[in-house]
Amino acid sequence: MRIQKANLSFRDPLQPLQAVTKIIIHHTAENGWDIYKTHDFHQNNRGWSGIGYNYFLEEDGTIYEGRGLYIGAHAKGYNTESIGICMSGNFDDYDPTPVQMVSLHWLCKQLMGQFSLYSDQVLGHRELDGVTKTCPGTRFSMTELRSILFRINRQ
Ligand SMILES: [Zn+2]
Repeated sequence: MRIQKANLSFRDPLQPLQAVTKIIIHHTAENGWDIYKTHDFHQNNRGWSGIGYNYFLEEDGTIYEGRGLYIGAHAKGYNTESIGICMSGNFDDYDPTPVQMVSLHWLCKQLMGQFSLYSDQVLGHRELDGVTKTCPGTRFSMTELRSILFRINRQ
């Protein structure tokens, strides 16, 4: 597995992450939005430099770099020291694809190794203070994700 570069252009220069103390999981909450649609929406509707997420997982399991290790725009108050991973889909309505979950586990494992993070530093967007949305979706169990990450990081 590998991280692929998407063909994205950002409007303003990006700033490197200052630290990485958390990985924050998101869903697009939209059906069928790929990285390009999400990038376009963030750039042209939100008025941001470009896609707010650091990494993006397509329904077919493709792992794309969004902002990579530059400061994102995905979790208010946490952007300078977290990595936001967004999965395409609306997990209030249906589950992530099996290949998306395989990619998510692989990417989290890589990043946890790189930044010496424990599984309890992987949070769902909804678990952050002040967040009222369900992100990454009511059907997505963060407890289950953390227990899988705990296990695979000890193999
Ligand atoms: Zn979110």
